[in-house]
Amino acid sequence: QTDSQTLEIRQQFPALRQKVRGRDLVYLDSAATTLKPQSVIDRISKFYSLETANVHRGAHYLSDAATDEFEKSREAIRIFLNASSIEEVIFTRGTTESINLVAESYGSFLNAGDEIVLTEMEHHSNMVAWQVLAQKKNCTVKYIAVLPNGEIDEASIESTITSKTKLVAFSGCSNILGTLTPIKKIVSKARSVGAVTLLDAAQYVSQKKVDVQALGVDFLAFSSHKLFGPFGFGVLYGRKELLDKMPPYQSGGSMIHAVDFEGTTFNHLPFKFEAGTPHVEGAIGTLESLRFLQQYNISALFEHEQRLMKIAVDELKQIPEVRLIGEAREKAAIVSFVMEGVHHADLGQILDQQGVAIRVGHHCTQPLLKKLGITGTARASISIYNNENDISQFIDGVKKAKRMLL
Ligand code: PMP
Repeated sequence: QTDSQTLEIRQQFPALRQKVRGRDLVYLDSAATTLKPQSVIDRISKFYSLETANVHRGAHYLSDAATDEFEKSREAIRIFLNASSIEEVIFTRGTTESINLVAESYGSFLNAGDEIVLTEMEHHSNMVAWQVLAQKKNCTVKYIAVLPNGEIDEASIESTITSKTKLVAFSGCSNILGTLTPIKKIVSKARSVGAVTLLDAAQYVSQKKVDVQALGVDFLAFSSHKLFGPFGFGVLYGRKELLDKMPPYQSGGSMIHAVDFEGTTFNHLPFKFEAGTPHVEGAIGTLESLRFLQQYNISALFEHEQRLMKIAVDELKQIPEVRLIGEAREKAAIVSFVMEGVHHADLGQILDQQGVAIRVGHHCTQPLLKKLGITGTARASISIYNNENDISQFIDGVKKAKRMLL
């Protein structure tokens, strides 16, 4: 990606044209949520202004048009994931709800003594739902170990997944360490013992081309808001064969085939899992965000971010008090670090005063931090609209924080 391409991308994000605390905004918090391009903002605004109607309901022009767009989004997401059918694309409120859906619904098939395998670097979103399920079903949760450099311990994949394992849920990309995990190795081990797999792709979708069939995962979850799309909308991909036999997750309108006072028959896929009025503009906004992304080559975007990460990492390594957390060989442009003798919250505040937005804290990964012996990190996460100037502002901010706090 050349400087002029980065500029062209930046210009599509109106948030980057504002000043924050009197300074040009430097947004390095894209792992929390990405900024939204103008086309997505305009699309949602147009839907609310002119096209508002409920979907799958009305016998009128606007309802039909909204339904068409809503279902066009499902087809675009199917293509994005390379799912084999739109029946495998369930709309949810996001990664968290997608994981909860699988834990509740597929989880009903688990029995006492079964084992659920996660990794030590999971986001709470992909940990708590399984702990709750395990408690309900008298199952055990086991964890694939993470090495000190932030990589997955491959020997631990072999020893943790056993004939007792029924489900393996893991992240394709860690939101704190940036680690890109060995998806195919984990999937192949899980398959060899007959366990199903769920890939938490919340961070992964913005990094790599996703192909659910090539990856061989049974379920995949992601949130649109981390992929230049709207909040409150996400996807669960599930293999049809599994979704067909799973019970509904929530009950209400749309998920039924017929309701009688005595009972109900359920709708076919994907609607069986979509109770109530859906997040219509979420789907339509996501369709637009996928169109936005399709203008670019995802591996070129990835390389751009990697290049900026390398600059940031090289600079941070010059500061003796800074310790990087997560230095996997294959990682997304997520730079977590601690500064010895400085609380991460103070660091975040000083950067914020200079218009630099990063995230500080536990990043919803408390067990991992405990293992690493720290209480939190400062995290700068880089996206397609960042440039070298952002990185130098960030580094200046870190140096200033050091001068002020040490
Ligand atoms: N998993 C990972 C790896 C994440 O980074 C996040 C979001 N921080 C989630 C799950 C949860 O996503 P959401 O809050 O959008 O449901």
